[in-house]
Amino acid sequence: MTGATRLHPEQALADKLVARLDLRPPVDVGALLSQFCDVVQDDFLGNADAVMYGLLEESKPLLLLNPQKSEQRIRFTLAHELAHLLIPWHVGTIECHPLSNDYDGTNQPAEESSSSSRGYRSLEDEADRFASRILVPRRFLDTLRGLSVREACVELESTNVSATAAMRAYSDSLSPGYALLVVSDNDTVISWHMAPQTVSPGFRRGVVVDPAWLSTAVDRGRATYRNRSVIWMRSVTSLDESVSVPWRTLLDELLDGQQLRPPAREALWKTINGVAASANSASATSDPSAVAAAILNAAARRPELVQVVADPRFKQFAIARAMSFAGFAKPN
Ligand SMILES: [Zn+2]
Repeated sequence: MTGATRLHPEQALADKLVARLDLRPPVDVGALLSQFCDVVQDDFLGNADAVMYGLLEESKPLLLLNPQKSEQRIRFTLAHELAHLLIPWHVGTIECHPLSNDYDGTNQPAEESSSSSRGYRSLEDEADRFASRILVPRRFLDTLRGLSVREACVELESTNVSATAAMRAYSDSLSPGYALLVVSDNDTVISWHMAPQTVSPGFRRGVVVDPAWLSTAVDRGRATYRNRSVIWMRSVTSLDESVSVPWRTLLDELLDGQQLRPPAREALWKTINGVAASANSASATSDPSAVAAAILNAAARRPELVQVVADPRFKQFAIARAMSFAGFAKPN
């Protein structure tokens, strides 16, 4: 399995438009949209970003746009409205809350309202996915391969979208194991984004970054996108971190380094194996990278294992143990 994810129809449609119009960041989405509808600013839309009238009617559709939002948010809204105009099955009048599943640090997360029915939300999600691929085109993301996260974030600034929108698009192009956290000045999580096939160690928005999340990473750092701080981390994957040493050997070496008396050493051995076994059985998948991440997460939450988890060999152990659970190596 590779990191490829299924392409939604609206994403394929966006990619075609990008290729046909040769769109590159920063995409002039206002000019693009005005070819298809009339745009009127309206100060009385309340919390809605925009309302689109007259989809699929004879006359040119009309978009009422809330101007009381940030430039980046308005750009995303315009691309989102373009989706409603160009996706054939989007018809009628639609009141829009782009990216309402996200919280960008300035607006409130959208409250559940009568219009947040499942059908409505799926149209909105489709429009968001389309907008993302227009403003942060896939072929632009492909040019970021090989760059560090820090370097890529600098290049991404040319898209002129919010940090949440940029990191959401970028994370989708990263290889399994990567996670990106957009944080405020005091490291409160504004939004979090994971590469395909990556396991969350329990990320939550609206809380200060938990050191336990970061302790499970084999590599991590901090980048800046516009005026936002981005914490990135990469957790283990079976592909790039495979370990050939048997887990028992790794665990022995690890415990030898702790210099414990025999009873304490034995107790710790049992605790670690118990944590690993229960993390394995609680995992919904047999993918070794996911199981290794689950072992690291579970161990990081046990106060008595703080010193052990801090040892770099513990990650090797977790990978080797996960691989043995998955049958990659004989559990000798
Ligand atoms: Zn919409």
